[in-house]
Amino acid sequence: MNLTKKQIKILKDFCESYGASGFEKNVTHLFKEYVTPYCDDIIYDNLGSIYAYKKSKVNNPLKVMVAAHSDEVALKVNEICDNGLIKVRETSIWNQILMAQRVTLINQNNEMFKGAICATPIHLLSASQKNSPVEVKDMFVDFGFLNKEDAINHNVRFNDPIFVDGSFEILNDKRILSKALDNRIGCALLVEILMALKNVELPYDLYVGLDVQEEVGLRGATTASQMIKPDFAIVVDCSPANDLASNTEMGRLGEGVLLRVVDGNMIAFSQLIDYQKKLCIKHHIPYQYFISNGGTDAGAIHKANDGILTLTSCICARNIHSNSSIMDVDDYLANMKFLKVLLKSFNASVYEKLLKDGR
Ligand SMILES: [Zn+2]
Repeated sequence: MNLTKKQIKILKDFCESYGASGFEKNVTHLFKEYVTPYCDDIIYDNLGSIYAYKKSKVNNPLKVMVAAHSDEVALKVNEICDNGLIKVRETSIWNQILMAQRVTLINQNNEMFKGAICATPIHLLSASQKNSPVEVKDMFVDFGFLNKEDAINHNVRFNDPIFVDGSFEILNDKRILSKALDNRIGCALLVEILMALKNVELPYDLYVGLDVQEEVGLRGATTASQMIKPDFAIVVDCSPANDLASNTEMGRLGEGVLLRVVDGNMIAFSQLIDYQKKLCIKHHIPYQYFISNGGTDAGAIHKANDGILTLTSCICARNIHSNSSIMDVDDYLANMKFLKVLLKSFNASVYEKLLKDGR
């Protein structure tokens, strides 16, 4: 295993914490705990995004923002039935990953309830039912509540988040299987970056933090970038691998950092892609080109104010937006190396050149 015990612990802690869009406090609190010794201050936007601030000694320093999103996809309580079963609704979760899965509900008091999504036994299904996927709106979730009153007495309410559970496992010493790798990979990497820069004097003010509500429309990234007003931004996220059946599709496990040239909400700054590629080549960091219909927080950040030079530094994982996503440890380390190299070499003249190259 190429990760140290401490690195595994950081990643595992983030993967195992629960944070749905709009309910990210467990993740942001964990981040605060980890990064407080490595920064000068902690700041928040009013949506709950959290940033560790590291002040430069330089006069009129540039501001650099490094962002990852803290939320994960989750189900929500839609109805508490008379028999105590719960009906749900979803965002960005495919119904085919859900039947018979173990789940965790977290109520407003942060109390946890374990349960399972019901799956009618095969004995009771007609031939046509066996061949048709069940829609999320028709699923029932069982937390052992005896009836509606019992659920309400346990403070279960409309809109409480429900997470599909998936334990954190190391596969073959080289890959990691877990829920929520999108984007707890990013959260863990940001902690590592702050640790690595602890005794490094930077020629710019550094803001490293977690945005809320990415999965529902890049909302925390919008407010955090307006608050920080960075000159340069880096977004760290986890993108969908597409390497199961084809040798030609983009997003391949183990092939390094993604050069995300275009996605659903940003056309990458071509001079930043060139810069990223040059740094990768110079420092022997594996990289691969990537395009996606999805997007990242960069989509919001690069449009803030009068436009912000924004670079994505992502890796891919298989089966994202499920409880069984799989990443490659070497990709994780490649991204960490890239971020360190980038942040240690960035300065005002690099920035001026990148700005000029875009004109
Ligand atoms: Zn993501």
